[in-house]
Amino acid sequence: MAKTGQRPPFVRLNRRTGELVLGNSALELRIRTRNGLSPHYLMDRRTGSAYADADYCYGKPDAPLPTLLEPPRIEHLEDGSLRVTLHARMNALRVEHVFRVTDEALEEQLVLTNQGESEIDLRDAAFGFARTLLDGDSVCADLHGCRFYPIPYRRETVTGEFQDLTPEDLLSREAGYYFWLWVSQVPAQRYPASAFGSEAWAWMEPDGDNALLIAKYNPNAMEWSLLEPFQRQNKTYLRFGGAGLWKQGDPEPAAQLEPGQSFSFGVTRFAPCRSGWKGAFYAFRAWTESLGHRVPDGYNPPVHWNELYDNPLWWGPDTPERRQQVYQLADMEAEAQKAAELGCEALYLDPGWDTLFASSVWAEDRLGKQRDFVAMVGERYGLQLALHNPLAAWCDVNGYPVEARRQSPDGETLPSLCSASPVYLQTKAERLLQLCRDGAVFLMYDGTMFTGECYDPAHGHSLPLTRHEHCMAVLQLIQAVKREFPEVLIELHDPIVGGTNIRYAPTYFLHALLHSFDELWGYEYMWDPMDDLRSGRALSLYYVNLAYSIPIYLHIDLRKDNEHALIFWWYASTCRHLGVGGKHPDPKVWDAHKQAMRAYRALKRFYSQGTFYGIDETVHAHTLASEPVAAGKTVAVLNVFNLAETELEREIRFRLSDIGLPDSFRVYCPNATFLQDGSEVTLWVQLPALGHRLLEVRAED
Ligand SMILES: [Zn+2]
Repeated sequence: MAKTGQRPPFVRLNRRTGELVLGNSALELRIRTRNGLSPHYLMDRRTGSAYADADYCYGKPDAPLPTLLEPPRIEHLEDGSLRVTLHARMNALRVEHVFRVTDEALEEQLVLTNQGESEIDLRDAAFGFARTLLDGDSVCADLHGCRFYPIPYRRETVTGEFQDLTPEDLLSREAGYYFWLWVSQVPAQRYPASAFGSEAWAWMEPDGDNALLIAKYNPNAMEWSLLEPFQRQNKTYLRFGGAGLWKQGDPEPAAQLEPGQSFSFGVTRFAPCRSGWKGAFYAFRAWTESLGHRVPDGYNPPVHWNELYDNPLWWGPDTPERRQQVYQLADMEAEAQKAAELGCEALYLDPGWDTLFASSVWAEDRLGKQRDFVAMVGERYGLQLALHNPLAAWCDVNGYPVEARRQSPDGETLPSLCSASPVYLQTKAERLLQLCRDGAVFLMYDGTMFTGECYDPAHGHSLPLTRHEHCMAVLQLIQAVKREFPEVLIELHDPIVGGTNIRYAPTYFLHALLHSFDELWGYEYMWDPMDDLRSGRALSLYYVNLAYSIPIYLHIDLRKDNEHALIFWWYASTCRHLGVGGKHPDPKVWDAHKQAMRAYRALKRFYSQGTFYGIDETVHAHTLASEPVAAGKTVAVLNVFNLAETELEREIRFRLSDIGLPDSFRVYCPNATFLQDGSEVTLWVQLPALGHRLLEVRAED
């Protein structure tokens, strides 16, 4: 149903000209169907802005337009949307171009089929709408003041730098992405690319209010929303929407189509948004939530204590002798005591608990039987058991059958594992299941890096193994556990680059599939969380939370914190599943952590299940307002941070709807100077240097 004042989706076919016009109250798309297929004009009906104003790019900028094979198929779908399917042909390539219009958005999808006799290479093919970018030598006047904001990584996770682009930047800056191939020592660095890519873009109008969200979603293969300037007949255009390969050549299954083979690219969603770039982030989040990428019902992850920070094992060589010396039952019990004193809910064991590094076999000789260990930490310290489990890329290969190893092109067995070898998958799955049977409640899937080329024909994968197959093997290992133990939480590192600051795969990739993982990894900000925050790197978490409600897991080194518990609260506010470790040597800071944990535990549901709203990078709201509200009840919590080295008095102003509350609410804030004027709230807080304040927003009588 269309909302009041909205025009329902429409489609018209002009029989005289053959032009199709479709849209809704906000967008209008015109598609030429004669003398070549071309969706050539896309306009925002509210602002009059033309996003596309030239012929669509099918494969190559100067390629002839595809020929329509049959009349457009127009369908009215049950949900009130309209779908237009266009079948066309370019030489041996059959193009199915589908558009769907809903009340709020336009969606586009391309399906390509090779109908020829020989293989088609699509590595450099690019599809998309075209918008005139240059008028003569300068950017078109109506694009002045436009901005392109990447979603979710408006701040790059590796550098913390803003990635916003002006139209001029699209022409002058080098596009790129971060990557490493750990197994072959391809260094972690930025690699150049021809297109700018992101999971989504907010194309901001100069007014700073209106934006077009251009989001790509492909749950089956890694794909991004691309922006790229291109030349056609001496004119410069911007290409957007559509489809293409990016980064190392993903989606990999689209790189080459064999005769008869098809590939369905992901959906691109075009949605006009209001409320500036943040409105586009929230619109993207609402959409991905509707696709299943949300906080699980009743989500209540145990607060972890990680033994690694205070355990000498990690900080020296990992040898059997040192494991004997420093990773015994008594060592873990000492960590459990700290965990209980602080108020944690689970003891998380990082490297050292298993027989060999990453064997995932409980070291009974040092720690006793796992079931007894679980009973001991549960009864004595009120803790559950959580375990680190690196996958194939990062392990002691001696812990696995020799058939699981990689093979070189000339048949030599290599000293590392193949993530997709059936023997590895079966062995690992059995061991992970045993850990769950014996009482583990959380498994971290670390060591998820692409294991690299493997030419063993006995493994049953492509020769060599592809990144895509590697990802599917990781998924298989998650599903093997989740099918039997749906309540065990699984955190998955990036499935291509593993534990680094880099995000390679789209953030949602492999999530929300049947029996898949629960939590993302917090970008490795575990070693120096204070520096990550102050450098701006960990400010990227703010933007990820505006764009996704998929929970993030991270543990942090509390020894790096200060007496204001600054990093405790930063990561508590941005990672729905919090882990900590490392007892601070200064008793004042340790006491501050105990106090912070008491406050956090009392309000934990706001952090684990609440909706995240950003007033700005340093003022976060977590709101639970779906229930009827009793007077005096807390409806939202605010975390206010001061990242400067001087103390600060801040005035914070927002509308209740900015933090997800009805504007008609009357609220108060018991621990800050506070004023409500209609729907607008103003707060004044005093903040110490590198400090934090926790404020509660309560419903008034
Ligand atoms: Zn293999």
